[in-house]
This record gives sequence, C-alpha cells and structure tokens, in this order.
Amino acid sequence: MLQENKRIKSAKYVSHFEGIFACPICNSSMKVMEFKSLVCSNHHTFDFAKQGYVNLMTHSVNTKYSKGLFEARRKLITEGAFYKPLIHEIAKMIDEHTDKTEEILSILDTGCGEGSHLADICDIVRSGFFKSVAGVGIDISKEGIMAASKRYSNKIWAVADLANTPFKNKQFDVILNILSLSNYAEFNRLLTSGGLLIKIVPQSGYLKELREHLFHHPEKQNYSNSETVKRFNERFQFVESSRLSYTINLNKFSLEWLVHMTPLTWSTAEEQVKSFFNEDSTQITVDVDILIGKHAI
Ligand SMILES: [Zn+2]
Repeated sequence: MLQENKRIKSAKYVSHFEGIFACPICNSSMKVMEFKSLVCSNHHTFDFAKQGYVNLMTHSVNTKYSKGLFEARRKLITEGAFYKPLIHEIAKMIDEHTDKTEEILSILDTGCGEGSHLADICDIVRSGFFKSVAGVGIDISKEGIMAASKRYSNKIWAVADLANTPFKNKQFDVILNILSLSNYAEFNRLLTSGGLLIKIVPQSGYLKELREHLFHHPEKQNYSNSETVKRFNERFQFVESSRLSYTINLNKFSLEWLVHMTPLTWSTAEEQVKSFFNEDSTQITVDVDILIGKHAI
C-alpha cells in the first residue's frame, strides 16, 4: 500500500478537530473536504499544503522572519536545550492549573514560530503528567508554520492572523503566548470559561550578555516589563505569576543560533554580531516572568 502523503495525513488529523474552526472571512463553521481543504458553509476554501499545514490568512503578509531564523530557533531549542527549564515549568503549570483527566486538553500556541515549544510542552504534559492533549500552533509567518509542519506531526499548524484567528469562541483550555505579541481580546474570546492564558515576558536580565555586547547605551541594555504586566493583570483574572531565571553555557554553535534568531541583532553591525559568536562558549541568562491568568468573566 502506498504510504499516505503528509497532506492527507494532516487533513485526516485536523478532521477530528474541525469543529474548532471558524472561517476567517465569514465566521461560519468549517469542515475538512476530501482530505484536501478546509471549507466553510459559504464555500470559502483553504487548501492543505503538501507539508501538512493550512494557510488561513485572508491577505498575504511579508514578515522579516526567514527560513534561516526558524532553523536557528529550532536548533537552539532542541539541540541547545536553551529553554528547557522554561518549557518544563510551563508544562508543570499546565498540569497544576487544569483538571481535565478524561477529556482532551486543548492547547493553542499563538506565535508558535517553528513549533518546537508547543511540541515539547505537549510531549511533557502527555508523558509526564498523563493528560491527553491536542496542540494547535498559529503564526503569521508561513516559513515558521511550514517548518513546524515538516517536523512535527499530530498537531494542527495554521498560518493565521492573531487579530482574526480562524477559531470559534471558547475552544481552548490553555493559550500559550511565549515571548511574542498578544491580542488579549482574541485570547479572551478563544479561551474556555476558566481557561488559562500563560504568557512569558522577558525580565530585566533576559539575554543581558548579548545586549551588553551589542549596545553601549544603557537604555537599550535595560528592559522593563512593568507596562506589559500591568496590562495583563487588567485583562485577566490573576492566577499566579513567578520569575524564572537561569544561566546556561552556550557553545559556539548555539551562540550563533541565538544571535540569528533574536531580533536584537537585526539593526546591529555584522562585525559586532560576529565577534559575539566567535567566542568558544559564553554564559547566557534567561530571565522571564511567567504570567498566568484566567479567562475574564
Ligand atoms: Zn467563509
């Protein structure tokens, strides 16, 4: 028997969860048709790509995020284990604050990039805490979603606009928003009653070694997240907040991946950037706040 291609496999997987989708054009329900497309009741049609993702954007967007950047991000996460303590902490929080034991826990990662965080978190929640999970990742960057769907199966990957996400109301038990842009009105619309938003924001020491190297102006070296935290607390019912801080020794390769994936370096002279990753190894700090809020009633 011929092996099913990735497009059909993904379409079959998505068909089990097709009830979560709402057409991004007319808002009506959607169905997977002929294991080929997601189609709404007004016949707006979005095809699955051969890599298995579906593009649900209603207009095309050019992002600065290249294929190379996502490759660097994936390697830093999977081979460099740069965010491992953070990912474990997030999975633990999901377990502690959700009580679904029999039903499937639905997790949406908004701004998932190349998908490694979502894939890792779902794996830990499933194997470490014995909960069934369904992972959905969205990003505005097609390059990111394409890389995610190539690498990780049994997830739903969609190119989608955070301001107009292609889902019905109250579909997700957990929304992840890891070091990326937010849309709180959409998050509230998408969360189930009692659903959790887990937002990761940088704290003052985040990548401080890199920033100290790149910027000589102190105002660019320092970073305050107080406005972000304030806005979060205005929009969501407070559950928990904690600070996670650790340093990790990165080798030359990992440093290069880090430098490539971070927007901090985009406006910096190439020489200055290169001199950083020419070091054999360097201690790099991850310093973040983990904010957990509940759907505002
Ligand atoms: Zn439609």
